[in-house]
Amino acid sequence: MTNGGTPDPGSIASEIRADLVTYKAEKRRKWRPKSNAASQLGHPCALETGRYLYIRRITPEENLALHPVAKQFLFDDGNTHEEAVIADLKAAGHQVDRGQASYTWDAYQISGKIDGFIYTSAGAFPLEAKAMSPSLFRAAAKAAINGVLTWDRIKATRNDWIAKYAVQLNTYLLMTGRPLGIFAFKDKESGDIAIYGWALDYDLGETAIKRAEEINAAMAGTGPEPKHCTRPDLCGRCEICHICKPPLVQFGETREIMDNPDLEAKLIRLEELEPAYKEYKTLDEQIKAAVRGKIGVLGDFEIDGAWSESPAQVIPEHTEPPRRQWRRKITKWRKTA
Ligand code: SF4
Repeated sequence: MTNGGTPDPGSIASEIRADLVTYKAEKRRKWRPKSNAASQLGHPCALETGRYLYIRRITPEENLALHPVAKQFLFDDGNTHEEAVIADLKAAGHQVDRGQASYTWDAYQISGKIDGFIYTSAGAFPLEAKAMSPSLFRAAAKAAINGVLTWDRIKATRNDWIAKYAVQLNTYLLMTGRPLGIFAFKDKESGDIAIYGWALDYDLGETAIKRAEEINAAMAGTGPEPKHCTRPDLCGRCEICHICKPPLVQFGETREIMDNPDLEAKLIRLEELEPAYKEYKTLDEQIKAAVRGKIGVLGDFEIDGAWSESPAQVIPEHTEPPRRQWRRKITKWRKTA
């Protein structure tokens, strides 16, 4: 659209944005694993009963839903950050090789792609790079002691994401026969990169392998179907809830499953801006109090003001007609990394 020959900047922006959203939407792929993905063995439901992976594996692809477009933005952003982490590690003098090499463990039908092996003074170890939100970054820091993450500490923090990453790396250690692995966690906001060591946890490895065996047996018809997990909070936000049909359903049957990437992107942006908005409000209040009644110059700022008084108002009694108001409440049910 033009205005007297000048292109309308808003239309141009909308056009580019629409192309971007279309590109991301078309990039999405349904995920139906052929084996027990190491990256999902630590999904809390998969680790508890195996059901999450079992349902994913047995469900025909046409019955699986595509993830929201906003998630594709998030995945791509995560991949970019993770590549940057590995580039930084290399620039810091640590060789990283065999990036994204595929590993399979046929005995348990476990598969995975390791981010790489990082070379240190003590040898080369599997590396798992993850980019995350500041809150997840802080949760990992809270779980670590002296730069080391352990399963007991992770369980104490009850963070499903860190737990999932731990199971993933632990499984890679079993698959590659290494005694320890390295996590490189990047805070997407500050850009900081935390490095944590992880020592092979045999008990955790045994649990993950047992789940894989149970899933395989159920798939082959030689074992029972894995039970639903005992986490209704997970089921309510599980993307395969409509197929799995757990006994407790919080969403899905009573709520419209909305598909509005633009609105979703706005909600994500709103969430991102919230800390800055809170800081703005706090500073504004502090400044208001500090400059009350003052006129002056401070650095590059001119401070001015005037008292204003409004006359006392008398509001005659009146009856308000009934009003119907939609009180919105938006909460985040799914924690993102
Ligand atoms: S709906 Fe619940 S029980 Fe079913 S796969 Fe998802 S998390 Fe597991």
